[in-house]
Amino acid sequence: MSVKFSKDHEWVSVAGDIATIGITNHAQEQLGDVVFVELPAIGKKVSKGGDAAVVESVKAASEVYAPITGEVVAVNKELEGLGEFVDTAVDLLKPSGRFVAISFHSLEDRILKQELRRLSGSCQCPPRIPVCTCGARKVVEILTRRPVIAGDAEVDINPRARSAKLRACEKLAGGPDSSYEK
Ligand SMILES: [Zn+2]
Repeated sequence: MSVKFSKDHEWVSVAGDIATIGITNHAQEQLGDVVFVELPAIGKKVSKGGDAAVVESVKAASEVYAPITGEVVAVNKELEGLGEFVDTAVDLLKPSGRFVAISFHSLEDRILKQELRRLSGSCQCPPRIPVCTCGARKVVEILTRRPVIAGDAEVDINPRARSAKLRACEKLAGGPDSSYEK
């Protein structure tokens, strides 16, 4: 199985009749903080160079083009569930309890970062939205201003640690909705 890249920074990996497509880490870094991902419906026919998905960041909405022609048989829903997972996990914490997560993918890390910010009371709505719809509320304090990453020694022993980012927060004692700041 080999991975090929398009000039628009999509990648495609083909195994038999099934191709997996995505956008490169470089493209994700260029986008900045992603606020929304629209994935194609199962069964949608995509053609090479045509629209396959939309990724919206704080900077812009970007089309993801299909690098090859085919029919969508599955989409990765992991990202959709991630924000909700963090919300649920924090809900389950007792006051002063800590939530710690390690991601291995920049888009996951961005979602994690945004969700923790939202749960620390900082509105994560796109700038053009006049009223807050993200439900920001101050229930945690973020313990990691920047993600914790592996040092050189650790990466030497375990190369996969190179892309790992750890973020953590602590639940506040005041209970939910104790304060709110836009
Ligand atoms: Zn908001």
